[in-house]
Amino acid sequence: MHQLRQIPPIHEIQQSTKFKKFIQTHNLSTERGTDLIKKVIASFRNQVIEGEWRGPNPSTFAFIEKMFLDAEDLVNETHSFSLQSVINASGTILHTNLGRARLGKDIMEHVMKVAGGYSTLEYDLEKGTRGSRHSHAEKFICELTGAEAAMVVNNNAAAVYMILSAFARNKQVIVSRGELVEIGGSFRISSIMEESGARLVEVGTTNKTHLSDYSESMTEETSMVMKVHQSNFVIKGFTSEVPSKNLVTLVKKHPGVIYYEDLGSGALFNFSQAGIGNEPVIREVIEKGVDLVSFSGDKLLGGPQAGIIAGKKELIHTLKQHQLSRVLRVDKMTLAALEMTLLHYINGEASERNPTIKDIIRSKEEILDQARRFVNEFTHLDTKYHLDIIAGSSQIGGGTMPEVDLDTYLIRIKHPFLPCQELHQALRAGKPSVVGRVQKDQFLLDLRTVSEDEQVTVLERLVQLDKG
Ligand SMILES: *Cc1c(COP(=O)(O)O)cnc(C)c1O
Repeated sequence: MHQLRQIPPIHEIQQSTKFKKFIQTHNLSTERGTDLIKKVIASFRNQVIEGEWRGPNPSTFAFIEKMFLDAEDLVNETHSFSLQSVINASGTILHTNLGRARLGKDIMEHVMKVAGGYSTLEYDLEKGTRGSRHSHAEKFICELTGAEAAMVVNNNAAAVYMILSAFARNKQVIVSRGELVEIGGSFRISSIMEESGARLVEVGTTNKTHLSDYSESMTEETSMVMKVHQSNFVIKGFTSEVPSKNLVTLVKKHPGVIYYEDLGSGALFNFSQAGIGNEPVIREVIEKGVDLVSFSGDKLLGGPQAGIIAGKKELIHTLKQHQLSRVLRVDKMTLAALEMTLLHYINGEASERNPTIKDIIRSKEEILDQARRFVNEFTHLDTKYHLDIIAGSSQIGGGTMPEVDLDTYLIRIKHPFLPCQELHQALRAGKPSVVGRVQKDQFLLDLRTVSEDEQVTVLERLVQLDKG
């Protein structure tokens, strides 16, 4: 126990140059720095008392060194962000766990400008009076989709909830059994619908729903017919669903009933024209005469997390007046990011400036070029890795176009002492974190979503792991 008495007193430590350097390096106040040192000493005391101390003797210089090293670890631990940026080399573009769409440079610049100062969030510049938050992005959405009116809420789940609460509470909503999807993270469309107070009337079967299934279920109590796009799965084989235009015609015969489509992803870019999948463009859906549609901001649109509602003016007006529009409203950063995202589409620049679109339509030849440059860099370095390039596929992800495989090239990395899972774990753990893919006991990197700058970082991380 005499070791405890050998610990230098705190006021002495405070006077040391080491302490001064410590607080300066980490930009800490004297109080905060002292707190951290006290915590380290408390832990040391406990270890001595428990007979677990294996470190240097407190009277030695080595002890002081260790004390400051532990304090540094404590700073790094407590001051590190929980939400950290990650380099995504997994090959899944809209990786839900990695934040779905990443935003382009000029989108971020616009967000910084709006969020870093005051803005017209709820201010009418012309009249000098209160304006509406719900008016932002509306004209862009209308121009791009052909809808009469639009509004933005927190995400598409919120849009579904709000539309049903506003128009179908305690009333019947007819929906096909084949469309009651689970979105992921155990969120189910049916649960969200029930939560809203709407009464679900499920029609048809899992694989087939006919127009008569809908028409025979229409009653006085019906407030809405809803179609949910099967975004994250495909039903193949003996299947049929009722086309939108037939449902529009059916609903028109029942005044007061609303026809609503939850588009899930909702594309503004014509991917099918680019030979990718067969996701309908939102404008085409609106043109069929659908009353309301909703879709996500951060799936195929490639913007911020948001739920976009577009459709008939009077319906959107009712939604804007609804109490829930306050509950589910978005902040200025989201609106700024969304407006810039939409402007890129209006200017026909989305394929160059929207990272999601760009990554989806990137050619495999371009990815091969990038992969070759990566592997070439390695041949000039002295490491134990073995790298080669193999053909593979990337996924769009985010529960969109599940049947689409995008051709890509993958870098396969082998290391004599680091098994693939260990290599992956080490790459994830360090900073910046790199997420790759382990497939059939092989560690793979897909550079489809990796920028040139990030590529340099990945290389540095690998070299560092080889050394250490
Ligand atoms: C993804 C999805 C949602 C939920 O959208 P979020 O923006 O994630 O809230 C709702 N419906 C469908 C069909 C979807 O694919």
